[in-house]
Amino acid sequence: MLCKKQKTWEDPFYLQLHITDKCNLKCRHCYEETNRDSAENLLRSAEILNILEQFRNFINILHMKGKVYFTGGEPILNPMLYRYISKASSLNLCTMVLSNGTLIDQFRASELSKAGTRIVQISIDGLEETHDFIRGKGSFRKALKGLDCCQNAGINTIVMTTLNRKNMNELEGIIRLCIKHNIPRFSLGRLVPIGNGIELFEQVLTKNELLKIFKKIQHFKKKFRNSIHISIHDPLWLTYKGHKNSYGCSAGIRGICIIENGDIMPCRRLDMSIGNIRNNSFLEIWNSSCLKHFRTRDNYEGKCKNCKFLKKCGGCRAIAKAICGSEYGEDPQCFLRIRFQNKGGR
Ligand code: SF4
Ligand code: SF4
Repeated sequence: MLCKKQKTWEDPFYLQLHITDKCNLKCRHCYEETNRDSAENLLRSAEILNILEQFRNFINILHMKGKVYFTGGEPILNPMLYRYISKASSLNLCTMVLSNGTLIDQFRASELSKAGTRIVQISIDGLEETHDFIRGKGSFRKALKGLDCCQNAGINTIVMTTLNRKNMNELEGIIRLCIKHNIPRFSLGRLVPIGNGIELFEQVLTKNELLKIFKKIQHFKKKFRNSIHISIHDPLWLTYKGHKNSYGCSAGIRGICIIENGDIMPCRRLDMSIGNIRNNSFLEIWNSSCLKHFRTRDNYEGKCKNCKFLKKCGGCRAIAKAICGSEYGEDPQCFLRIRFQNKGGR
């Protein structure tokens, strides 16, 4: 069942599990805001606990390690979060919480730690003015406080930035801020214009802007190598770096997402449902034609179709769908093909 490039499952397979659709913020790029479901359709606690068991059985069948990202909405707003984390830990699944950080005080950070949280990832989308413009006034300082509380509670932390035109020149400042707060890891992802993010369409980077940013990130990686680990899982970045064991886009290869109503998506930013966990098992979804195509990449279109980096990269399927209209379309932000062809390839 492994795709050809994968000899083992040393890397974990992740489940991004949305445990609430409630949030205390109204971020401009949020994909949840336009996607509210009726209360009776939302997954109940017993179902979520059962999903964790099903997931553990699924990864055992495929001889994989498992990782669960608990998110929402804002996951801290679900009082069952701690119970879910300890359940996942007891099943030997690595646990991570993806949060806006603004509700994490010292008590909650200690509860997260006691429950067995391995990592908390908090979004910082710019320096104070930019972050507050995107996420709401006062949210920047509260997010930093949340990070400090997690650090004090001994939890590993990651700062994650969603890249756009407004914050593209603030990356060094954000990295310096992370270092000041002893954050060990920094990551970033591209803005996908879905949900509320459609209103930020103008903020989506061009391929030249993206290339410029990746060059900057290369530079920052060297400059700050003794202070912070900069890790980015974007397929273009991994290919740009010449990462040897890269499989590129992880959608359906190393990860899957379940949203609050049980709908299953290959990636939360890829706006399509491929089943519902109330009706479909993980194995059925794994064997669905959509995920098979993502693993084989045999029907990709446009520039991705005949690209020599296809197996290593695959482009971001979410951006392809959001901008080109097809989950198998080309990645419209790809600068790599032209760049490396001009240089005679890598
Ligand atoms: S054309 Fe597609 S597969 Fe090739 S490098 Fe660009 S995004 Fe990746
Ligand atoms: S679709 Fe895009 S955001 Fe989702 S896993 Fe692939 S590269 Fe990452």
